[in-house]
Amino acid sequence: MSDVIPFPRRPAASPSDDDAPSSAEGAVVGIDLGTTYSLVAVMRGERPVVLSNGIGEQLTASAVSFDEDGSVLVGAAAKARQASHPDRTAVTFKRDMGTEKTRTLAGKTMRPQELSALVLEQLKRDAEAELGMPVVEAVVTVPAYFGDLQRQATRDAAEIAGLKVERIINEPTAAAMAYGLHQRDRELQAVVLDLGGGTFDVTVLEIIEGVIEIQSTAGDARLGGEDFAEALAEKLAEELAAEHGADPREDERAWARLLDAAEHAKRRLTTSTEAAMVVPGLRLGEAEVDVERALTRDEAEAIWQPLLARLKTPILRALRDAELEAGDVEEVLLVGGATRMPCVVDLGAKLFGKMPLSSLPADEAVAMGAAVQAALKKGHEAVDDMVVTDVAPFSMGIATASLMGRQQVEGLYTPVLERGTTIPASRVQRFFTMGDGQKEIRVAVYQGEHSLCKDNTRLGEYVVKDLPNESAGKVAIDVRFTYDLNGILEVEMTLVGTERVEHMVIERTPGRLSAEEIAAAREAMKAYKFHPRDTLPNRTALARADQLFTELTGVARDELGHAIAVFRSALETQDPKIIVRVRDQLGALVDALRRAHR
Ligand code: ADP
Ligand code: MG
Repeated sequence: MSDVIPFPRRPAASPSDDDAPSSAEGAVVGIDLGTTYSLVAVMRGERPVVLSNGIGEQLTASAVSFDEDGSVLVGAAAKARQASHPDRTAVTFKRDMGTEKTRTLAGKTMRPQELSALVLEQLKRDAEAELGMPVVEAVVTVPAYFGDLQRQATRDAAEIAGLKVERIINEPTAAAMAYGLHQRDRELQAVVLDLGGGTFDVTVLEIIEGVIEIQSTAGDARLGGEDFAEALAEKLAEELAAEHGADPREDERAWARLLDAAEHAKRRLTTSTEAAMVVPGLRLGEAEVDVERALTRDEAEAIWQPLLARLKTPILRALRDAELEAGDVEEVLLVGGATRMPCVVDLGAKLFGKMPLSSLPADEAVAMGAAVQAALKKGHEAVDDMVVTDVAPFSMGIATASLMGRQQVEGLYTPVLERGTTIPASRVQRFFTMGDGQKEIRVAVYQGEHSLCKDNTRLGEYVVKDLPNESAGKVAIDVRFTYDLNGILEVEMTLVGTERVEHMVIERTPGRLSAEEIAAAREAMKAYKFHPRDTLPNRTALARADQLFTELTGVARDELGHAIAVFRSALETQDPKIIVRVRDQLGALVDALRRAHR
């Protein structure tokens, strides 16, 4: 299984090119649309840089919330509202891409593509504000294991957000590009370990003459940095339950506060050998307890032992699938925010017997690589000396029936385009009627490697009707599969011996939208009022304070309530100086109440 990138025989961006790659229409950006955080990057000269969002941060939480005034909040403000306004907020919807699962926010039913589109639209707006020019084109990254439906859903999301997708590339490929592995002039065997918020992806790459090929992927879709925080919170909850006879896990708010404290301690332990989980005024049954639990890195790592053990399984599987020994791997890349943890670095170093590359910020490498690819795409128009190859990650084929004696067996899977085929590719297969006077041929398209259709993923179905009246086997159709560089499939059916050509319109496939649905979603998107960028820092500060307010009790709650009221009246003055000063005070109080001491 494999993927790639074009390889220019010259630097990615010309040295004279000081600015972001742009065309007459605007800038081309690279976007890492993550499960927990998303980022946008562009080339500045020869260097990819991650752009800041409206609150001055590089990472935008992949969270969407509808504010009470009807405006859309994306990012930290939305994430902060997850606990206080669960019925108006959505997170981790990337997991639903390619499925029909919808969420209802403030009474609106939203598809995963539409939620992702809101995140993309926010990133686009932020990039435009930073760059001072329109952003119309993007290279968007997806996990290597994403199939056709998930890639198509990502493409649809971008279209809904008004972005033209230049290319969809795999996250590990992007990471390898950010590290410039495609520019090394020799063969290279590399492994990318990507531990994000909620997922762990392992990819074995082979790089030959600038072509990055994916040899194998493995992962754990339910293991990420959040589990490390949760393990610490669990430990603390057990202790508190034993000591106070009330389990904080039974109280949603109390549990949210423990998780928050654990997340802070976890991050702290990345750079320090000691930290504390601090939760002032935690309500436990009838009591209110000031919790402060000191924690050493060693102790935390002992708690994480089961999680660290789980990380090994997919690493070993990916190596086995690529038929490699750990010692064959020449470079180990760490990406994803959670690979910052020293125990994860150690695990990688031990397993592979060498220090992993980690000179780029772990959570930015993928976006940076997407920006490198975006610049290559632009360069591509001028320079045509590029090697462009890619390989289909899955087989694609159709359902057929077969006669076994007199019995007709249905649901057999016949691959048309085999996995591992170099793409872009086009493959055709001929299929014949099985009955006399057969009126139609049903073409059902599947993706996967199993012999029976029911075990593969169904992509769509099309019926070629009004066949000429002939005896069995006399009528044939040619089914052509065309697979493009983005990993997206088109199916064309030709009635043999005629000019009749029909294209497959894949309808009612889980997660796949029709052109009309995309257009309608795009219109709906235009109607949404995004929270204005200039007041977003205020809105975010308020959302964070409100979140904490719902969790606190007693004196601390009163104190925070007062500070929120002061900030609201500062907002009324509309004097930026006053607002910023009071906002900083509120922020400091929120920080202090969250973790009285570090
Ligand atoms: P995504 O899953 O969206 O790709 P990221 O790669 O941004 O997410 O990773 C997010 C995860 O990284 C979170 O679980 C977060 O706690 C973790 N993380 C970020 N910074 C650190 C740090 N300094 N130490 C430990 N974990 C971190
Ligand atoms: Mg990621």
